[in-house]
Amino acid sequence: MEDWISIGYLISAALFIFGLKKLGHPKTAPFGNQLGAMGMLVAVITTVAQMQLTGEGVVDWTLIAGGIVLGSLIGYWMAVKVEMTGMPELVALFNGFGGAASALVALSEIQKYIAEPSGIPTGLEITVTMVAAGLSALVGWMTLTGSLLAMYKLKGGVEVFGKWIRTPTWGPAWLNPVKVLLFLGVIALIIASIDDPTNEQYLWGIIGISCILGIILVLPIGGADMPVVVSLLNSLSGIAAAFTGFIIGNSVLIIAGSLVGASGLILTFIMCKAMNRKLIDVLFKSFGGDGEKQSLTRTKVGSDADEVAMMLDGAQKVIIVPGYGMAVSQCQHAVKEFANIMEEKFDTEIKYAIHPVAGRMPGHMNVLLAEANVPYEQLIEMDEINGEFPECDVALVIGANDTTNPAARSGEGPLAGMPIIDADKARTVVIIKRSLSVGYAGVDNDLFYMDKTMMLFGDGKAMMGDLNTAVKEI
Ligand code: NDP
Repeated sequence: MEDWISIGYLISAALFIFGLKKLGHPKTAPFGNQLGAMGMLVAVITTVAQMQLTGEGVVDWTLIAGGIVLGSLIGYWMAVKVEMTGMPELVALFNGFGGAASALVALSEIQKYIAEPSGIPTGLEITVTMVAAGLSALVGWMTLTGSLLAMYKLKGGVEVFGKWIRTPTWGPAWLNPVKVLLFLGVIALIIASIDDPTNEQYLWGIIGISCILGIILVLPIGGADMPVVVSLLNSLSGIAAAFTGFIIGNSVLIIAGSLVGASGLILTFIMCKAMNRKLIDVLFKSFGGDGEKQSLTRTKVGSDADEVAMMLDGAQKVIIVPGYGMAVSQCQHAVKEFANIMEEKFDTEIKYAIHPVAGRMPGHMNVLLAEANVPYEQLIEMDEINGEFPECDVALVIGANDTTNPAARSGEGPLAGMPIIDADKARTVVIIKRSLSVGYAGVDNDLFYMDKTMMLFGDGKAMMGDLNTAVKEI
């Protein structure tokens, strides 16, 4: 019988790994997701079967069935209701829930010891269990509070009793030794709990400090560093699950947790490299700025669609630079239509410049453009496309702001050091956005005020519609 259980876990682990592999390309990603979900189903069925067959038994079937029904309904409702622009917040929330779920399982294992001290193992076994439970609690609770704060930072604030409160970005230098002290405090409590596993005060101490740590780790982070912290929290939720897998002796949980942890860490380092940051600096140096948005003092006269269409007449090469505003206005289909018209009418070469943190989650622009059937070969990563701007007739910036802001080159402020799309080097720049207002990092953008820049003020979808009509009529 044990063989069948092992085979079940092996199948589910294989499904996770193949699913992850398929996630590497937008075209195969939906199938990758389905494989992952199937892997999870196989893992749940195998675990329940294992409990039944080994005589351990399921404590309460109603709880399990209720959990599945309620969880599926909430998951379905959230997935249907969430806007594409709300996905990053949802992912942050799921990361937090994942961390908390693992920590709760670890907690329930320790509660078993408290309820029945005679069942406490001895020697190495209790050491491993208490260390794994402590680390699961540390990482899990830290991920929960950190992710909730990250979610509110991504949302730009939270409404409390009808009042909109922006989440602050605050973190003086003295907070760093506090973080280290709190971390050492948790380690001390974990060590103490090995000798006294039934002492609930250690347990609540670890949980309380971990929750505070999550908040003060994410609090100072803002601006260009948020993408890094979001993927780090994703990774932590996996690591918490892997620790919990050790406690309950579930190999598939260890494998799944390690996969999430490792892939999240790889993504974190990719983001760090793309943002020209070191992880240690993101966590302790607080590049993010003070969270205050710059006030605007300059003005710029807007253009109209006909004027821009005339300028586009006969353009040889146009690079489209999408950003968060494209996601908000959902204008990716209109953008693709624009590309089709230009290609057919003027034989224009069209490319898309993809900044690694454009939008609000890694790969945000790739997903949207793939949805509009933009050929994958036309999506060019920032490092590769930047050299092409000087010979490009028009850079069409659609709802991108921070990722094109030359202020990042100055080495100061919340965007300091972040590599940008060199849209300002194109012969002419057209920017579609509703106003001159600042982007996520709150920094005014010189690109808007350059002589060669034409601003098309308005909602992305509406303006792309007007532009397409105007170009067709040339
Ligand atoms: P920004 O957030 O800098 O700017 C987006 C712009 O879109 C705004 O200035 C806004 O201007 C405009 N906009 C909003 N709604 C519309 C609309 N309906 N139609 C047209 N325009 C609209 O975008 P970028 O993509 O350039 O930069 C992403 C930022 O998000 C970076 O700072 C990055 O660090 C951060 N971030 C990215 C994450 C990731 O993983 N990708 C995660 C967390 C943060 P206006 O109001 O005038 O229309």
